[in-house]
Amino acid sequence: QRERARLRARTARSGEYFARASAVMPGGVPSQFQSAEPWPVYLERGAGAKVWDVDGNEYRDFHNGFGVMCVGHANPVIAAAVSARMALGTHFAAPTEGSIVVAEELRRRWGLPAWRFTNSGTESTMDAIHLARGSTGRDVIIKIEGTYHGHHDAVMVSVKPPPERMGPRSAPASVPYGDGFAPGTAAATRVVPFNDAAALEAALGEDVAGVIMEPAMMNVNIVPPVEGYLERVRELCSAAGAVLIFDEVKTGAAVAPGGATELYGVKPDVVCLAKAICGGLPGGAIGMTSALGELVAAGRVKQQGTFNGNPLTMAAAAVTLLDVLTDDAYARLHALNAKLMAECERVIAAYELPAHTVGMGSKGCVVMSTEPVLEYRDYLTKIHHELTDLAWLFHMNHGIFMTPGQDEEWTLSVLHTEADLQAYVDAFEAFAREVTD
Ligand code: PLP
Repeated sequence: QRERARLRARTARSGEYFARASAVMPGGVPSQFQSAEPWPVYLERGAGAKVWDVDGNEYRDFHNGFGVMCVGHANPVIAAAVSARMALGTHFAAPTEGSIVVAEELRRRWGLPAWRFTNSGTESTMDAIHLARGSTGRDVIIKIEGTYHGHHDAVMVSVKPPPERMGPRSAPASVPYGDGFAPGTAAATRVVPFNDAAALEAALGEDVAGVIMEPAMMNVNIVPPVEGYLERVRELCSAAGAVLIFDEVKTGAAVAPGGATELYGVKPDVVCLAKAICGGLPGGAIGMTSALGELVAAGRVKQQGTFNGNPLTMAAAAVTLLDVLTDDAYARLHALNAKLMAECERVIAAYELPAHTVGMGSKGCVVMSTEPVLEYRDYLTKIHHELTDLAWLFHMNHGIFMTPGQDEEWTLSVLHTEADLQAYVDAFEAFAREVTD
C-alpha cells in the first residue's frame, strides 16, 4: 500500500493525463498493453538508457518499449539515418534499395532465403499462418498454451487462459482471448503445453497446417526450451508435413544476430520478426523457405500492405542491423546481461528470496519461484505473483522503468552502462531488504 501511494504521489501529473486521456481513448491508452495501476506513467522523452515522465521523474529504462529499443533511445546513428531519409521522401509504396539491403542482411543472419516486410509482429504471424494454410491446404494451427503472437484471430487463443477454463493438461481447451470472434474460430487452433514434444506429437495430424511457437517463450517471464525439445519439434513437423513457424518477434535481433534460431541451432520454415529489428520504428519481416517464397511471388498466398518496407523504417532497420547491433555490440550486451543476472542472483542468495534469474542475449528476468518454470501452467502455479507485483512497484519508485504486470523481462540496449545496471541492482536489493525484513 505504501509503495502504491508513493507511486501515485510521484506521478500525479500522469494521473491528470490519465483523466484527460480517458475522455478520448478507452482506458486512457492507445493500446491495452499500456494500461497500468493506478494509471499509466506518461512519458515525455528518452535519451540513451533513460526516459523522463511528465512529472519530470528520471528513470533508467529496462522496459525499453517491450524490448524494441536495443539501440537505445534517440541513438544518434538511427536519428541521422531517419533524418536523411526524411529529406528524400518517406513513402512511395514502390520498392527502394533500403528493403533489399535489409532483406539481404536478414537472409545472412537467419539463413532463410526469402523475405517480405510487414508493419508489426501481428502482421508477421498472420502472414505466416496464411503461408502454412496456403501451402498445405490444411486448416488447423497448433500453438503453445500461454503464448502471445499478436492480435489476429488464429492466435488469439489460449493466450493467458484463466485456470478454470484451461481444461486438463492432456487436452487443453482452445480459449478465445477476449470477445469478438466468429463461432468456431478458436476450434481451428489446437493448443499444447510448451516443452512437451510428446504432447505435440499427439496433437499433430493430417489436418495440421502449421505449428507456431516462440523458440523460447516470452511474455510469461522467459521460459527457455529444454534440451532436445526444439530438435524434436522440427522432426515432428517435418514428418507430419506441417509448417514450423518460429515467432521471433521478441527474441529476434534482441538475443543474438540470428535470434533464437541461431542460439538453438534449429531452423524453422518461417520466421516472424518485428520489434528490435527496426531500431524503434514500427515494422516487421517474415523469412521463409524458397518453396514458400514461390507461393508468395506467384500471388497465391497474399502478402501485402501499403506501408510494407516503407523507406523510413527500412533506413532505420538498415543501420540498426548493419551499424548498431554489430557482433561487438552483441558481445557487450551479453556480458552486461550476464553481470546483471549474477548480481541479482547474489541478492537472491543474500536475502534468501524464493527466486531465480533467467536470461538470454540482452533479455533477462527475476522469476519469483525456486522451481524452474517450463510452461504456462507452471507460471500460474509456481510463481509468487504478489512478490512480482511488489518488485515492479519498488523498481518504479526507485527510478527503474519496467513493464507493468507479471510477465515481462528486462531488455538492455547498447547505450546501457554499468551504472545503469548498478541502479537496477540497488533497487532490487532495496526490495529484497524490505520483503525479508
Ligand atoms: N509475437 C510476440 C512473441 C510478441 O511478444 C508480440 C507483441 O508483444 C507479437 C507477436 C505482436 O507484435 P505487435 O505488437 O508488433 O503486433
